[in-house]
Amino acid sequence: MSRHTGVVEALRDHGLTLGFCPGWETRGSSTFWPQGHVCHHDAIAARWTTPPGLLIAGRPDLAGPLCNTALQADGTVWLVAAGRANHAGTGSWRGLVGNSTVWGTEAQNAGTGQEWPQEQIDAYVRLSAALAEYFSFSAEMVCRHAEWTSRKIDPWGPWTDGHRWEHHMSHFRALVARPTEEDFMATMSEQEKTALLGAVQEINGVGAAFGQPARPPLRDLIEAENRRTRRMVLDVIDAVAKAAKLDPAKIRSELRPETRAALDKVD
Ligand SMILES: [Zn+2]
Repeated sequence: MSRHTGVVEALRDHGLTLGFCPGWETRGSSTFWPQGHVCHHDAIAARWTTPPGLLIAGRPDLAGPLCNTALQADGTVWLVAAGRANHAGTGSWRGLVGNSTVWGTEAQNAGTGQEWPQEQIDAYVRLSAALAEYFSFSAEMVCRHAEWTSRKIDPWGPWTDGHRWEHHMSHFRALVARPTEEDFMATMSEQEKTALLGAVQEINGVGAAFGQPARPPLRDLIEAENRRTRRMVLDVIDAVAKAAKLDPAKIRSELRPETRAALDKVD
């Protein structure tokens, strides 16, 4: 439970352009441990260039801050409060209840059918991914306010690519979940990276068996392994021949031609 100023680094890592509302570091209650992200639109018609005071100070019936981040139409993410904000109200999402459990973003949109600029949607995705990574929750924990409570419709309206908030939230979550290769490697432990490398080498080995080029050291390893296997088979033949008092050549003559040919390659 605390205020989360460290989130700034995660936002920068995700390539977001940031703005800072003075005092954001200490704004909002420190009883705050976000395990999800509630997306909103602010229902303000004017295209603001700094977050309206309302989002920071609140209104007579609702104490501020009213969000943790405010998302400008051009994709700029404004830090409003590092502590708990009054944004979600009564409702829940996948077991989360209360504003102490969810980060809240108010995005600039009139909420009356105004189209969402592509750069704003891109930034919403990056912002959600950054929060999910920083607070260790999955993309499934990102929701619309309308999913949190049936009292609300936000965020709502058309994107520029044919999607709409109210129809395509699972698409939005899929965009949030889609990791870049770099992010993917960053999430892996050393042990997992070693296992992945092993799997890649095995695939290279399979490629070599089918005549595909493998890197020379791998090919050498595979050939050494094949030689070792052939010698083991010959040892078994010799042992059986000795125990049964038979000629090893006689046993080998009983083998399938391709097996004999493989064994003949042993030096
Ligand atoms: Zn809302």
